[in-house]
Amino acid sequence: LIISAVSVNNLVENVLKLTDYLISKKGIKVIKKLSNEIPEIMIDSNKIEQVFLNIVLNAIQAMDGKEGVLTIESFLKNGKCYIAFTDTGNGIPDDILPKIFDPFFTTKPVGQGTGLGLSVSKSIIEQHSGRILVKTSSSGTTFTVELPVK
Ligand code: ADP
Ligand code: MG
Repeated sequence: LIISAVSVNNLVENVLKLTDYLISKKGIKVIKKLSNEIPEIMIDSNKIEQVFLNIVLNAIQAMDGKEGVLTIESFLKNGKCYIAFTDTGNGIPDDILPKIFDPFFTTKPVGQGTGLGLSVSKSIIEQHSGRILVKTSSSGTTFTVELPVK
């Protein structure tokens, strides 16, 4: 890991720039609720940005065919920093949910998904002593990244 003091809100903004074209093309609306009380935290910025990108790309794909809403929220709670990504897709079915972090697990057509995004993301977050939490229902999914502030 290449650790430096980083603003997670800036990483969110970077990911939204990278995905801007795709988001507009698909008619997705983005709502940002980024707390300005989050201090810079000691993380590997490239790796955490990769995690955010994986989650955002999954959210975009989950909302294919509908004009969805992507809400990105950052906040501090109990001395930890949280970045929550909520989509208005169709959610993750109960039988699929236990497998989503497995390497090479994908429900996407051959050539469209490697099934590595979430498994790589989970190891990156665990290398940072953090967690990825998932909450899902038939009206959408929230992936929340929890990172220590220290
Ligand atoms: P990939 O995107 O290549 O399929 P991932 O590891 O990123 O691999 O995701 C694994 C699987 O988890 C996806 O194929 C999909 O079934 C499910 N998934 C991930 N994010 C979402 C989401 N936001 N909404 C619904 N399903 C999701
Ligand atoms: Mg993916």
